[in-house]
This record gives sequence, structure tokens and C-alpha cells, in this order.
Amino acid sequence: MNKTLTAGLLAAGAMIGSAAAAQETFISIGTGGVTGVYYPAGGAICRLVNRDRAEHGIRCGVESTGGSIFNINAIRSGELEFGVAQSDWQFHAFNGTSRFEENGPFEGLRAMFSLHPEPFTVVARADAGITSFDDLPGKRVNIGNPGSGQRGTMEVVMEAMGWTEDTFAQTTELPAGEQSLALCDNNVDAIVYTVGHPSGAIQEATTACDTVLVNVDNDVIRALVEERDYYRMATIPGGMYRGTAEDVTTFGVGATFVSSDAVSDEVAYQVTKAIFENLDQFTGLHPALAGLDPAEMVSDGLSAPLHDGAERYYREAGLID
Ligand code: GLU
Repeated sequence: MNKTLTAGLLAAGAMIGSAAAAQETFISIGTGGVTGVYYPAGGAICRLVNRDRAEHGIRCGVESTGGSIFNINAIRSGELEFGVAQSDWQFHAFNGTSRFEENGPFEGLRAMFSLHPEPFTVVARADAGITSFDDLPGKRVNIGNPGSGQRGTMEVVMEAMGWTEDTFAQTTELPAGEQSLALCDNNVDAIVYTVGHPSGAIQEATTACDTVLVNVDNDVIRALVEERDYYRMATIPGGMYRGTAEDVTTFGVGATFVSSDAVSDEVAYQVTKAIFENLDQFTGLHPALAGLDPAEMVSDGLSAPLHDGAERYYREAGLID
């Protein structure tokens, strides 16, 4: 090959390379612990987005994080483009209430769609003498890492119950992925996790040692559910996990997929399209996602406004008018 031709080819190669780089948009999705449902759900979203990368140029990556509140804060600071968050924390972030009071309303928060239900799940060692949520005082309880949805929701419930950390023999702040082991190592008597079912973490906690899922149902919980739109009563079906043959009654929230108005309409549109055009495949990627209904996904548990890009897709698809 002569020198001029080689140089020409190299230059052409460099141009193609830089054109492709300029077109590629990176997006990151904040999720939760790897044995939760957010992490595989985020992975499922990225898998469908990345499949059409040649057409839209979006490269999607998933990150394991501390959970809902961490994700919302990271979207706010521009560190993440998307994240999964509990419906209660989406509500509070947009309105600047509860844990988001200090930083004020996150007006740029945008809803994409809702995902699976997340019952507030309490798992206790079978030998701990805990048969309901009301038995937790005096016990060693993992209340969750700061930044997780369950920690925030547990704090709301503790306040409503008139409990403080002193109510318990001990509180720990282990992240979701470490709490099953702590339970089975007898370092704690009970763990709380707001999570979809079935989840790897609860499977781990119920198979590695003898444990029970307990009801979280009393007058205080019923009053909270009555008062607040983002809570509802929930059932964890009996027989789903070893040691718990009966249905468990608790309250719950919904998992939602969120973003911000700093993310372009085109990116939000393409991400939404990738999921809704392949919904059967998406819901087949994790058992907790089975049964998602598109009509519910565009409205349930969404208190922030829809992202304009998502809304554009929903109109085109006839999912909203
Ligand atoms: N709901 C939990 C949280 O907000 C995460 C659950 C999961 O990872 O599936 O932190």
C-alpha cells in the first residue's frame, strides 16, 4: 500500500471514529443492591436500550447504589441520568417534603414509568420471638443504610409508631445486600427491606437459616395508608419463601423509574420506546416484573410530571390522550 493511500485511510478511520464517538450518548441508571430487584430491573432496561444502539447511539449502563434516595439525589446533581425510586420518595423529592425538606423541592424531577409493587418486608429469625411488626421493640433490627428507600420508610413508620432507635436493643445500618447474612449469622434479629417479590435477598434470608416473614399491620399502619396516596396495603403470597406458608399482610409502595428535565427528550423517548415496544421481553427478564400492565405503568405512583420524551412516546402509542 502506498504511503498516501495509507495516510488517507488512517484519516478516514479517525473521522469515522470521532463521528461515532460524537454520536454516542452515555446514560447511567442508579439501582440498589445486587440481590434486590432494582438492579436486575435496571439491567433489563439497559439490555433493551443497548440492543438498538446502532439506531439511536445510546449506551446504557447500570450501577448498583444505596437505593431510592441516593438515586434521586444523584439524578439531581447530574451524576446519574436515570434511577429507580420508591413512589413515596418520588413524591417527597418533587414536593420537598420529609427527607427532601432540607434541599427543597426537586422541580426538575421527571417520572418515566412505574414498575413492580414493593411491599415493606420484615424478615425475622425464627428463634427471635417475633411474630409481628409490633414485636420489634427490644430486638436487634437492621433499619437499612442511609440513602435506601427502606431506611427512609422505616423512619416514617418508626415516627408514626412513636419509636426511636432507643426502642430497639440495637439498630444497624447495613445495606440491603449484606443484611441476609447478618440475620443468618445471628448478628440481628430482624431486617426490613422495601422490595419486589420474589427477590434474591429475601430468598437468601429465608433459605440460609430459619426465618419468617411477619405481618406489618396495625392501626398505625392502616392510618398511614389511609392518609397517604403513595402507600397501600399489600400481600406477600404464602409459600413464596421457605418458612412462610401463609399470606403476609403489610403495606407497600411502588417502584418507579425516574429521570430529570436535564435529560434530553430524545434520550427519554428512546428509552421509553425500547421498554414499551418490548414489554413481553422486559417483564420476562425478572419474576418480580411479571404482570406489569402498560396502562398502570404510565400513571400508577407517579407524582412528578412525566418526562416530555416519555410523554411523546405514550401519546404516539395511544397509552395517554
Ligand atoms: N426499595 C429499595 C430502595 O429504595 C430498593 C429495592 C431493590 O433494590 O429492589 O432502596
